[in-house]
Amino acid sequence: MYRKIKGTEDIYGEEIKYWYFIENTAREVSRIYGYEEIRTPIFERTELFVRSVGEETDIVQKEMYTFEDKGGRSLTLRPEGTAPTIRAFVENSMIASGLPRRLFYIGPMFRYERPQSGRQRQFHQFGIELLGSSSPLGDAEAIMLADNFLRKLGLVDYKIVINSIGCEKCRPKYKEALKEYYSNILDKVCDDCKRRYETNILRLLDCKVDSSYAENAPKMKDYLCTECKSHYEETKKLLETLEVAYEENFNLVRGLDYYNGIVFEIHHSRLGAQSAIGGGGRYDKLIEEIGGPKTPSLGFAMGIERLIIALKKENVPVEEWRNNEVFIAHLGHEAKIEAIKIAEELRKNEISVVFNTMERGLSAQLKHAARLKCKLCIIVGENELERDVVILRNLETGDQVEIERTFIVGTAKEWLQD
Ligand code: AMP
Repeated sequence: MYRKIKGTEDIYGEEIKYWYFIENTAREVSRIYGYEEIRTPIFERTELFVRSVGEETDIVQKEMYTFEDKGGRSLTLRPEGTAPTIRAFVENSMIASGLPRRLFYIGPMFRYERPQSGRQRQFHQFGIELLGSSSPLGDAEAIMLADNFLRKLGLVDYKIVINSIGCEKCRPKYKEALKEYYSNILDKVCDDCKRRYETNILRLLDCKVDSSYAENAPKMKDYLCTECKSHYEETKKLLETLEVAYEENFNLVRGLDYYNGIVFEIHHSRLGAQSAIGGGGRYDKLIEEIGGPKTPSLGFAMGIERLIIALKKENVPVEEWRNNEVFIAHLGHEAKIEAIKIAEELRKNEISVVFNTMERGLSAQLKHAARLKCKLCIIVGENELERDVVILRNLETGDQVEIERTFIVGTAKEWLQD
């Protein structure tokens, strides 16, 4: 027997309603905020991710699904959605149709991480990108959109955490201060941090092995330049005016190199170790970095699998997918033809109909209808046909009546509404 690849999931049955609910809500909230969908390919040139996500990040160092295709190109299954979206924005000259451009995406991402609850190798994200806004209004809009999306889903046990990681003017000084602080305790930090000390000093603040050293480290807020500071303060003020609850965490840095200025994460209190349900921030230099014009931008991504865990933890009721409403059972050759016509009539009236396509007796057909959780069964038999009637049975109560052929659709609709 073949088995699925470690860290991937088959999504079906009872799970599907959660996916529809999240995807539909994501599309609806995006629509309300003026974002349009973009669907980029699942794989891109490896170079795109190395340049944008950053050579020294965990994603590029350890987690990418990279392979050579038959043409000898190095390709990578996308580990995140921003770089492909920006590539498409630049390649298709979207800037020509005016800025800002608001885009959203929903789809699978791939990272070679150690699988555990809430962490997979193929996972799915809903993300938005606001391309071409340098104003705090943009930061506030993205955070507000994220907050409204989560509320629309019915979640409450989450918090939005923000920070500013400064810009290329003020961050170098801060990095120096961090280097000095950590140089005295370098023998105590974990092996990954020893390596990051040389390559990606900010990431030491994010150490999962021991966070105590980060607590006493210098804070970016004390090093922000006037511009970064006023951008940060103005964004906070907007969030307060809009009554978006947030917390500050001066050790919040993101795992991708392209960020600057405001960064944020959203954590759910009942998700255990993998508590981040979303994260994002500003990336004012990324578009230039990958060959486009100077276009200050920002965005965020949410993990759909983690949102589903959160919905379940909070017992949020999710609407059942309305399928398998009526089962059509039939007995005899003539009945079969009439039954298929009845099925089509019901379907034209938006009723979900499962038609018996097996050669089997009535009791086996009814058993199958019950297993599919159909609400009603219409039984078409030769005897009844001669009298121009069919049997309508309520599978939940067992009630059944004979109805005239012409009243089937109307009666089925009435019974389904009860
Ligand atoms: P990131 O940009 O890496 O912070 O990812 C954004 C969101 O995607 C995270 O907050 C998670 O909810 C989700 N996510 C990231 N990596 C994984 C993974 N390996 N498995 C499941 N969800 C993930």
